[in-house]
Amino acid sequence: MPNDNPYLLLTPGPLSTTPTVKGVMMRDWCTWDDDYNNLVQALRTDLVTLATDTPGYTSVLMQGSGTFCVESVIGSVIPDDGKLLVPVNGEYGKRMAEIGRRLRIETVVHDSGEVDPPDLARLDRTLADDPDITHVAVVHSETTTGMLNPVEEIGRIVKQHNRIYILDAMSSFGGIPMDMAEIGADFLVSSANKCIQGVPGFGFVIARREVLELCTDRARSLSLDLYDQWHEMETKNGKWRFTSPTHTVRAFVQALQELRDEGGVDARYARYSENHRVLVEGMHRLGFQCLLTEAYQSPIITSFLNPDQPDYNFKRFYDALKSHGFVIYPGKVSIADTFRIGHIGDVNPDDIRRLLTAIDATIYWD
Ligand SMILES: *Cc1c(COP(=O)(O)O)cnc(C)c1O
Repeated sequence: MPNDNPYLLLTPGPLSTTPTVKGVMMRDWCTWDDDYNNLVQALRTDLVTLATDTPGYTSVLMQGSGTFCVESVIGSVIPDDGKLLVPVNGEYGKRMAEIGRRLRIETVVHDSGEVDPPDLARLDRTLADDPDITHVAVVHSETTTGMLNPVEEIGRIVKQHNRIYILDAMSSFGGIPMDMAEIGADFLVSSANKCIQGVPGFGFVIARREVLELCTDRARSLSLDLYDQWHEMETKNGKWRFTSPTHTVRAFVQALQELRDEGGVDARYARYSENHRVLVEGMHRLGFQCLLTEAYQSPIITSFLNPDQPDYNFKRFYDALKSHGFVIYPGKVSIADTFRIGHIGDVNPDDIRRLLTAIDATIYWD
């Protein structure tokens, strides 16, 4: 299968996929036929197995990008008299709070700025003081900066106070070892085009079955009704309610097989971590600085400060790297002038070394 991509995507989704993942999309599927529905059922089981060893969990696939799935969970599992608390330290946390507000769900935000983890003592106090809060939603890997949030510690606090825990593990699931039962998450959300390295088009939710079963008739949307989608898949052998993204699903099945072939999540985590290590070491050598303290840094994406050099311009830097075959990502924080380099996808340390050579050839100062 020829790989005719003009550049490697160093963006955290969509990301560079293997030629074999792209290749399996070259056929059409009948959504009524067992061939396809059995594929979906096996996939749902595989996702649960990847999320935890503990029994009692189930999965739902949902059309759309990752945000659609987050909205589907928030809109379908919080009852009318429920209240949502969101610790925020980036765009994706902010987005969950915005979803809550748009859906007229009472929403409280704990903002810890852009480069610091959530304040755990404050979270504990708020949950103790406000019994109306029913759900806590948090981002695992905050792709805005590359921050990895302490989801185990947060889970312990949320469970001590007996609330429902929603985890946006969009850019970490499949790339960072985790067990959602140990974390205490009741709902875990991720999508096809992140660390499992599929192509975009749908996302998925892994849920504690007994919690999801309580969510009949709560949804604030028809197409994003998580419970109805789950019920249809559960009772009709993997059938989706509305047109399913068949080619994307087939590609995802291949991507999951390639994750196993690579050696599972531990091996993928090791590759991503090495990508990050080689990148940061090389960038330091070239005079760049990271935004985050290394202790908070995920192996998914790294934020760098734009160099304080006369005539430096991100767009020119971006275009030059693109002509060398690499696409990087602009920054997204307000407190500093940054750009980002993602290191997930079909990307290995040698690609990062080639990138560093291209950056060295691009910059005109030293
Ligand atoms: C990618 C991502 C999402 C979903 O974004 P979409 O553009 O809707 O796919 C949500 N949360 C995090 C942390 C992400 O990295």
